[in-house]
Amino acid sequence: MLSKQLLLIDRREKTNSRKLVFAVAKEEKLTFKEYGKALGVDVNLTAEKFLVSSDGIYTEIEREVVKELLSYLTKLDEKGYQNITVKEKKKLQKLIRKVSWYIDCKIAEFIKKCKEEGITDIVLEDLRPFTGKRREIELFGYRLKANRFLRLLHLAGLKERFIQIAHNRGIRVHLTHAGYSSQQCLKCGSIDKSNRPSQSLFICRECGFEEEADRKSAVTLLLRFLYEPYRRILHTVNEVGELRPNKISLKTLKHLLIKHFNPENVSQVLESFSSSSFSPECPAECSLVEHSGCL
Ligand SMILES: [Zn+2]
Repeated sequence: MLSKQLLLIDRREKTNSRKLVFAVAKEEKLTFKEYGKALGVDVNLTAEKFLVSSDGIYTEIEREVVKELLSYLTKLDEKGYQNITVKEKKKLQKLIRKVSWYIDCKIAEFIKKCKEEGITDIVLEDLRPFTGKRREIELFGYRLKANRFLRLLHLAGLKERFIQIAHNRGIRVHLTHAGYSSQQCLKCGSIDKSNRPSQSLFICRECGFEEEADRKSAVTLLLRFLYEPYRRILHTVNEVGELRPNKISLKTLKHLLIKHFNPENVSQVLESFSSSSFSPECPAECSLVEHSGCL
């Protein structure tokens, strides 16, 4: 498969000019390894643990790096964006560039760790810009207007950048619905908002199953790739063998997640996956004919 990839070429050495750094588009073939090991990844923008995986690999955001931008945004929020001066706008853009770059570096660092651990497939939630319903978002202790912040920080494009960085390392990225990944119990399958009594803890109201919340979310995302009914019913496969979520309402998603949850089968899937670390068979082979890991 071909993908357009932007390659930065630094011509400084040839021209002795600091300004001649430009980009060209080059078509490069995507190559992936055979399926070896999958990882679920929960993206968390509210705390220091930015990326948490089902395996316990995580990447932290240093609060100090984003603090300056977040407090500046809070100040401008209070003043009103229509009233900010040219100087303030320039300062804001500079801080945004710095944080965007930092976040991209953190993603690259995380993907590098995954590669070293032999990960061939990552399951990520299909991050979408926040809707009007969520007017505010809490980031590292700062409350900000959600859409504005996401637009400014280009967080809406975070998913695409994550995929690009992973592809460059030869890792497939499967996307699944973000809905209910933090609320569904891995033991009995029940879905309830109150299953997450705090930011850090998951406790099922039905069966009492307890787990660290972010890690549980990451395992839930991974399950949607490993567990055949979820994989088949909720997704389609793209041309390079990656899952993409079907367009369904939250109500339908909840209905399907509950209807197809078989406690015994799910527990078998999770146990065999964690005990062997490496799944012996490509989990997509039974239902997804075109999955490249099976070819
Ligand atoms: Zn439960």
